[in-house]
Amino acid sequence: MTLTALRIDGGQVPSQYGARAARQEEIMRLFEAIIEANQRAARGDTRAGVHVSEFAASLPVVALTCIDPRLNKLMPGVLGVPEEQFIWLRNAGNIITGSLSSTTRSLSLACAIKGGKEIAIIGHTDCKVCHTSVSDLVDRFRTLGVERARLPDNLVEYFGLFASERQNVIKAVDFVRNSPLIGPKVPVHGLLVDITTGKLEWVVNGYQSLASAVPSVQPAARLNIEGPQLTKPAQIAPEAGEEPVPKPKIVPPPAPAPPPVPPVLPKRRAQTRAPWER
Ligand SMILES: [Zn+2]
Repeated sequence: MTLTALRIDGGQVPSQYGARAARQEEIMRLFEAIIEANQRAARGDTRAGVHVSEFAASLPVVALTCIDPRLNKLMPGVLGVPEEQFIWLRNAGNIITGSLSSTTRSLSLACAIKGGKEIAIIGHTDCKVCHTSVSDLVDRFRTLGVERARLPDNLVEYFGLFASERQNVIKAVDFVRNSPLIGPKVPVHGLLVDITTGKLEWVVNGYQSLASAVPSVQPAARLNIEGPQLTKPAQIAPEAGEEPVPKPKIVPPPAPAPPPVPPVLPKRRAQTRAPWER
């Protein structure tokens, strides 16, 4: 069975869960409720859903997923979040290449401009980015007319290729969580969705890392924003037996020239007489 959509809101707790479940949902946070409802639905509970009206302070959510078209029918239904509360970013492999990468910047703007309250990096099973080897990729580029020589040397690093969907999600969450562009109070979750069943698995619980996070932005992270052009070049120690490159002598700049002295005009009094003296 493929799970494509949870019930959205409705306001009533399924009767078989009763008051105890209602109390439990009250203390659950949004993604805890999402995972719980998704897994109930995967077990066949057709009434499973997220009472989104109870989580208004956590909405909208910002999600990064892969470009795989099989996700089109799953999102955001399997989360139980209505489309208008679902800010959806996609790239090939839901890859984050750095804490200041363009995708991280988009996530930060999704929070700053569109009011996203929580971020979820959602990987999926059977990801083709994960299952394509470097040599396959080179062949595929070649058929598209992109020769190997035109590509960067390290394709794995350049494209952020990965060998494990789960590890890729963990790495992406780590980059986003530690980004100086993401508010320290914004939870960053990592999920994995089964592409055939729609079942969610929680890879990184963003609420837990939020509780242990240091609230202040590290100075080093701020420095990185300045860009590499402002950082000092690394000092490279000479290899053994290699002549160290002599440092240029520091010559103090010449002292500024004194201001020009105005020419002293010869006193004319000695040479000429005033008219009344004549
Ligand atoms: Zn994928």
